[in-house]
Amino acid sequence: MIEDKNPQRTSIAQLGEFGLIDHLTKNFEITQPSTLKGIGDDAAVLDFKDKKVVVSTDLLIEGVHFDLAYVPLKHLGYKSVVVNVSDICAMNAKPTQITVSIAVSNRFPLEALEELYEGIERAAQEYKIDVIGGDTTSSQKGLIISITAFGEADENEIVYRNGAKQTDLLVVTGDIGAAYMGLQVLEREKQVFQVNPNSQPDLDAYTYLIERQLKPEARKDVRTLLHALEIKPTSMIDISDGLSSEIMHLCKQSGVGCNLYEDKLPIDPQFISTCEEFNIDSTTVAINGGEDYELLFTIAMEDFDKIKGNPNFSIIGHMTQESEGIHLVTRANTRIPLKARGWDAISE
Ligand code: ADP
Ligand code: MG
Repeated sequence: MIEDKNPQRTSIAQLGEFGLIDHLTKNFEITQPSTLKGIGDDAAVLDFKDKKVVVSTDLLIEGVHFDLAYVPLKHLGYKSVVVNVSDICAMNAKPTQITVSIAVSNRFPLEALEELYEGIERAAQEYKIDVIGGDTTSSQKGLIISITAFGEADENEIVYRNGAKQTDLLVVTGDIGAAYMGLQVLEREKQVFQVNPNSQPDLDAYTYLIERQLKPEARKDVRTLLHALEIKPTSMIDISDGLSSEIMHLCKQSGVGCNLYEDKLPIDPQFISTCEEFNIDSTTVAINGGEDYELLFTIAMEDFDKIKGNPNFSIIGHMTQESEGIHLVTRANTRIPLKARGWDAISE
């Protein structure tokens, strides 16, 4: 479906491993004061002075986490960085560095890896993080990407999953569910294309959804926004697996229950109309779809006035005693127990 605009194919073997690493990483610049040594030695050297360091890592496997039939490599590179940066943001820390490790089969020419690294570089610039190292190796089949992200924060700024209190408010940034519907649209187009390779997909009605799927952004801005509002969340997590499962994580680790309100869920009009078209219940997708990379957090009730009406945040529920359980309160005012159905269960 994604046409090959660059038919040139240079085999990786021509460059050799070191030539390849040099070639892919030559544009990376160091901008963080905490990076003393980046790429080029046996190890990178970092100096965070009196800050605490947060570290997170992710592994992405072709055919499991991404499908190159409809994910352009540049987007894949960008998104691989974003998902890691998002984890750092979810600790209320400032992302500073990443390492990038790849395993590639000989099916990939140099030009493919250049595209992947263009996306990685774009994300590094966007999030002002340094690429400080990695590893490059071959795989028998497919592409594997592993990224480790580092970030810094003062000890008292760091927000864990386990700090939510019984009467706290539950808040989410942005809107939710769109990335999942973007994936549904792309999957449908892939199937149409397999039947008729000459078909030209018309994706105009789904641009927001597809962008949310292919080019998500990490909410790096939230740390600054909350700081300006003088709010420190009591617990926080990013939405990778879906709202419902992330709420369960916060509740379980904090020892609280939760009421989530259906009518408060922030969803986009394009998301609603596409759910209708696919005949899927929009609330089900909004709470079970994943990959939105928004932040979900709890704040003390006293902070309500600081956040109400702020377009960046939606108050979607409140925490309760653990014994009350975790429920979705529907528009009809019935209480349905939330289950962590996660990502794949929606279409069952
Ligand atoms: P070693 O043999 O010690 O593993 P390498 O030759 O693999 O060293 O790596 C040389 C340098 O290039 C190191 O700084 C390493 O972190 C960096 N590097 C290797 N592969 C990548 C990659 N895919 N992306 C970014 N940096 C890389
Ligand atoms: Mg190595």
